[in-house]
Amino acid sequence: MSNENEYFPQIAMSIVAHPDDQDFTVAGTLAKWVKAGCKVISVLITSGDSGSNDVTKDADHKPVLAKLREAEQQAANAVLGIAETVFLRYPDGELVATLALRKDLTRLIRLYKPDVVVTGDPSSWFYGNEYINHPDHRAAAEAATYAVFPSAGTRLIFPDLLEAGYEPYNVKRLYIQGSEKSDTWVDISETIDIKIEALKKHVSQVDTHEVDKWMRDWAKEVGGEKGLDFAEAYRVMILKRDEEEN
Ligand SMILES: [Zn+2]
Repeated sequence: MSNENEYFPQIAMSIVAHPDDQDFTVAGTLAKWVKAGCKVISVLITSGDSGSNDVTKDADHKPVLAKLREAEQQAANAVLGIAETVFLRYPDGELVATLALRKDLTRLIRLYKPDVVVTGDPSSWFYGNEYINHPDHRAAAEAATYAVFPSAGTRLIFPDLLEAGYEPYNVKRLYIQGSEKSDTWVDISETIDIKIEALKKHVSQVDTHEVDKWMRDWAKEVGGEKGLDFAEAYRVMILKRDEEEN
């Protein structure tokens, strides 16, 4: 919630399956943290190369689409003030929470040492009665969660990472968006405009005329639960407390 206890990380890492996932869900929070001086690293596991149902396009189009969507994500991240963007280039629509993926994310966490990792909810299969959570979203969230714990902080998991110089590192907090057990509401009233501007960079995916009202209504609905104008909601796992909080 927006209060004197609001948490601001110094380094945060956003981990999502597809270009635009971050900007639909958590971009208001990321922009707010950036404004407060946080370095944000944006990790895209796939480059969204299946994100078209255009009947004139076949599989040859996938690399073209991947390139386009990476450029859209770079543009969105520039709007948000994100410091670094990492593309892992797994195939879109076929993502599984493999050990290889968990290891890739573990390497990135040990490299960038984020205070906070922001990702989805691996336990959310359904939203309401009309939306089945995309399997890539669940896979990304599961791999990210288990990279945070136990892999990143446990010395002898993935020993080749240790040999390559990636020392164990403990993430302090895991922010889970899309949870039905949200316990933390981030006031994004000051960054909702930036969020929408970022989202509009995903021109190949988003109806830029409709998205404005739609995103405002959604953030207003989420915020309304806590008396905030606009908010994003999370379940937050506090894995390690800052010294000053003890
Ligand atoms: Zn997605």
